[in-house]
Amino acid sequence: MQQQENSPIAPGDAPAVDGISANQKPLNTPEELRAIRQAMDEGKNPLVATNVPRWEDQVGVSRIVNRRILELEPLPTPAQVLAELPLDAAAQEIVAYSRDEIRACLYGQDDRLLVIVGPCSVHDPAAALDYAHRLAKVMKEVEGELLIVMRVYFEKPRTTVGWKGLINDPDIDGSHNIRKGLLLARKTLLGVLGEGLAAATEFLEPTSPQFIADAVSWGAIGARNTESQVHRQLASGMSMPIGFKNATDGSVKAAVNGCYASAQQHTFFGIDHMGRACAVETLGNPDCHVVLRGSIHGPNYDAASVAKAMEDVRAMMPADSAAAHGLIVDCSHGNSGKDEHRQAEVVRNIAHRIAEGERGITGIMMESFIEGGNQPAAPLDQLVYGKSITDKCISWDETERLLRELAEAVSTRRWR
Ligand code: PEP
Ligand code: MN
Repeated sequence: MQQQENSPIAPGDAPAVDGISANQKPLNTPEELRAIRQAMDEGKNPLVATNVPRWEDQVGVSRIVNRRILELEPLPTPAQVLAELPLDAAAQEIVAYSRDEIRACLYGQDDRLLVIVGPCSVHDPAAALDYAHRLAKVMKEVEGELLIVMRVYFEKPRTTVGWKGLINDPDIDGSHNIRKGLLLARKTLLGVLGEGLAAATEFLEPTSPQFIADAVSWGAIGARNTESQVHRQLASGMSMPIGFKNATDGSVKAAVNGCYASAQQHTFFGIDHMGRACAVETLGNPDCHVVLRGSIHGPNYDAASVAKAMEDVRAMMPADSAAAHGLIVDCSHGNSGKDEHRQAEVVRNIAHRIAEGERGITGIMMESFIEGGNQPAAPLDQLVYGKSITDKCISWDETERLLRELAEAVSTRRWR
């Protein structure tokens, strides 16, 4: 089997973790690719292995349509999924209220530090809820200084290939049971809200938000998609603030352009609550902002990089916009070389600077789970409990210490 990468980050960011479960589907071999090409050249559909009638055969377009589609499996509609796992009144209140609180931080009306913290990805809903339970307790202790939102990430962008997250492959074995993944993701979000915590996620697939976004209070557009028109359009219609990561090559301008484009009205292809293809018209999202995540060239969390990024933002975004008020520093990824110990150092560096009164940092992001580090992706029964299968995470014990240090830094800033 060929090795797949175990990290969503460009190989230049940090070495990918070795090993991948034997249960993962192997990549197409060169021989298989040649066989597919030859069948296509001969006018055969290389994918039809059964006699199940296909629409394209029935209407006589099989020579030209869906030549590389193995299967189109209908999913439930967003309306069905939302009805099956609805947000009760208390959960709706948490979502609506926390979105307002996040906005207040982003615009500087609330002087708390926004802290987006949690695992790189959710692969085990039980462990994610265990983590949420722990985080909710600390949240109560520090809620005067920190606005804590849990990272609940279900869709992982890959530099090449690898496990694409709980929605895409909930059994972590290459079976890609998206129907199950969608319901599991929603259940996890309901559980997080049930702990009294707001949730943050990355939006990757343009249609998946219809199934889960009602439960999300902060969204990210990742480094690989920050220049994507599709994702900017999506952000323009989202009901919550959206952070645009700088690009993997370090371009902050790409993220600023993302904020600018997403603040505008757009019309684009999407789906409605019934899963029907629609022309979606949006209002524009004024609450977008930049997230500095470092790059293949190194970190960008230092004071000079933050100041330069804010200069770039203010050159393009209105003075009273969320983006022009401040940004979020992602302490992981390119800012830590994806080493969890370095990530903790970055958090402490920022805590120190906040205590000293540095301006421009509205929030931080941390990748943290129950156990520190990471492990290769595999089905759940082969995994260490509470340990990341994507990027390395800070352990729970260290996370707790860091959250208290951050709270201390915010109160020091207050009394300066
Ligand atoms: C992540 O948040 O896990 C992630 C993939 O981030 P980025 O888009 O910055 O690489
Ligand atoms: Mn990550």
